Amino acid sequence: MSLLIVGTVAFDALETPFGKTDKILGGAATYIGLSASHFVEKSHLVSVVGGDFPQEHMDLLASKGVDLKGLQIKKDEKTFFWSGKYHLDMNSRDTVDTQLNVLATFDPIVPKEFQHCQYLMLGNLVPAVQNRVLEQLLKRPKLIVLDTMNFWMDNAMPDLLEALKGVDVLTINDEEARQLSGELNLVKAAQKILTMGPKTLIIKKGEHGALLFGDNGQIFFAPALPLAEVFDPTGAGDTFAGGFIGYLTKTDDISFDNMKRALLYAATMASFCVEKFGTERLETLTTAEVQARRAEFTQLVQVQ
Ligand code: AMP
Repeated sequence: MSLLIVGTVAFDALETPFGKTDKILGGAATYIGLSASHFVEKSHLVSVVGGDFPQEHMDLLASKGVDLKGLQIKKDEKTFFWSGKYHLDMNSRDTVDTQLNVLATFDPIVPKEFQHCQYLMLGNLVPAVQNRVLEQLLKRPKLIVLDTMNFWMDNAMPDLLEALKGVDVLTINDEEARQLSGELNLVKAAQKILTMGPKTLIIKKGEHGALLFGDNGQIFFAPALPLAEVFDPTGAGDTFAGGFIGYLTKTDDISFDNMKRALLYAATMASFCVEKFGTERLETLTTAEVQARRAEFTQLVQVQ
């Protein structure tokens, strides 16, 4: 099955209680691609970077089976830059800086051979760009998953509401679910969001796991693995999304039951992401490690 990934490819500067990084590789699509590579041999990326984006980062993505034909390189412009600082609990963070740079004028072009992809992950990105991608598809994919964040709810809500009408699954965190729905209670928030377009909603709650809501009232919960060392949660949500769509693409089954399995793989992938700064842990991760940790999730919740 073919997987198309759209999202930011970025430079991030991060600060957590454990340290600080200068500009390192980041971006939603980067984390999604690295994560999905444990489920699919090849994925296709649509994104944009500036002339300042190093070849070594592109080589890394290519080495993980991420096809870069749809990555535009704007030689005279700068790559999207995001900087964030985490609070002591590591569950909340402040955005220190967002410089859209190449993203401000990005017109996504989906290469012809990706226009009939079966699985589409619309990672965190300008909602108008997410809409432009949807318009270019020759055939509706079997499954479209969209991820977004509060930044776009604050700055581009009408475009985001338009994008939501065309997708199957939305992944957001609990704060964003409250903002999008205007409801404090997450079950009520989910009920409301499920009338906006998506038939399935995932609400991520950081170290407290994630909830999966179906439109027939089904609810499933996946815990987060309790970890002794959490260095940097950046990209955990995107890595989660990459695991979710990667597993669904591999198994080619979009039933609610299979989405439950995908949610556990999503949580498995996110648990690795937070162990080191940025993409560092994902760069060396093996699929054998993924399988071993997935088994730990079963141990965590199973009773005789
Ligand atoms: P997460 O921690 O899963 O929310 O993802 C963090 C990643 O999202 C970072 O690598 C950033 O480069 C990227 N990011 C931050 N802000 C935005 C934004 N407004 N739009 C798209 N991507 C963003």
